[in-house]
Amino acid sequence: MKLPYAEPYKIKVVEKLYRSTQKERTQWLKDANYNLFNLKSEQVFIDCLTDSGTGAMSDQQWAEMMIGDESYAGSRSFEKLKKTVKRITGYKYFLPTHQGRAAENVLFSALVKEGDIVPGNSHFDTTKGHIEFRKAHAVDCTIDEAFDTSIYHPFKGNVDLNKLEKVFKENPKEKIPFTILTITCNSAGGQPVSMENTKAVSELCKKYHIPLYFDSARFAENAYFIKKREKGYENKSIKEIALEIFQLGDGMTMSAKKDGLVNMGGFIALNDEKVYKEATVFNIMFEGFITYGGMNGRDMGALAIGLDEATEFDYLESRIEQVAYLGQRLADFGVPVQQPFGGHAIFLDANKFVPTIPKEEFRAWSLAMELYIVGGIRGVEIGTILADRDPETRENRFPELEFVRLAIPRRTYTNHHMDYIAVALKNIFNTREEARHGYRIIDEAPIMRHFTVKMEKI
Ligand SMILES: *Cc1c(COP(=O)(O)O)cnc(C)c1O
Repeated sequence: MKLPYAEPYKIKVVEKLYRSTQKERTQWLKDANYNLFNLKSEQVFIDCLTDSGTGAMSDQQWAEMMIGDESYAGSRSFEKLKKTVKRITGYKYFLPTHQGRAAENVLFSALVKEGDIVPGNSHFDTTKGHIEFRKAHAVDCTIDEAFDTSIYHPFKGNVDLNKLEKVFKENPKEKIPFTILTITCNSAGGQPVSMENTKAVSELCKKYHIPLYFDSARFAENAYFIKKREKGYENKSIKEIALEIFQLGDGMTMSAKKDGLVNMGGFIALNDEKVYKEATVFNIMFEGFITYGGMNGRDMGALAIGLDEATEFDYLESRIEQVAYLGQRLADFGVPVQQPFGGHAIFLDANKFVPTIPKEEFRAWSLAMELYIVGGIRGVEIGTILADRDPETRENRFPELEFVRLAIPRRTYTNHHMDYIAVALKNIFNTREEARHGYRIIDEAPIMRHFTVKMEKI
């Protein structure tokens, strides 16, 4: 019998979780105006709000924290991180930033102008935000299969080359500062991009003389999927695959809170000296001097170790297989989930889950409430509340798909926690025909309303 995967680490420090009662949670949720962002973390038993900055560091990373060099300029920790980034990405130049969106802010300040067009595969919301803030446009060129949950495709993060070439053909080269490829594609549900597709995108970009940048938050998870699903990569190491991806482009932005295995941090790495010089000015202005860029010395040290740990196969196997374990348990119970399972999260299909609630009463939001009441589990709505109102008509926008996302923090929970989540959802699913509450909005912000919206039960 083939040995199953097991975590390639053991636990040295634990953090206590409070197991609240359903009665307590009902009251807390009411006090939080039925918005999970308003809960205190002690009120949550299993927190699947995000996998960003919520993972556990290793003893090696904590040891590095103690020897962090906090010098303003020329810190040893900076040099350590710079060397690691060079080895893992192959890029010549490197700038630390305090997190991923800061890397976007710095790089895009150097590259994006009003009226520009930045094509890519379902840009992440902060990426799109930083493009649109500069009065430029993000054009989504993801393959159509990504938006159909009933279709199996091993690389749903892939770019449709025809859509991309159309953008290149219909716009002057000067209007397209770069193409951005998000690996894995967060907005499409943590779906990977294949090496074949990355190569094709790279060639197309070269043909039209457009630089290619990677939004690399989950680049190691993407490399893992390539190793598992793409012919010719079975025997390559994750580090070899990652380097091969990066060499197809000109640079990258990174949210180190994901595959950097740290709680805060980010960076830019790139080859073009001119762009580096321009970005340096913005980095000093927005983030800090170039040898810390918004990070502590100790945090740069921990990130240097984290990047190496995150690109080890055994770690990635246990991480991604844990997410798939939860997905499979749910699928076995008949609970509707998006497939194939993404690298960092499971998506519950609320349209199939709670069909008795009208969409005007916020189905996915209601399911997220129910999951918290029943199990003390915090997910996040990716549905009508998140989709916001149409900026012109001010009507609610109803997306075709309504999800509750359960993001799994790295190295943080055990498979018993996954079992607990699966059973809580099974119990909700088995009673789905019973009357459930819809919700109505009592107060909302004009934009990004999901963080602060106040709701009430109908
Ligand atoms: C998280 C994330 C970002 C933004 O990074 P922050 O560290 O949260 O600022 C950008 N792109 C992708 C794909 C991400 O997942």
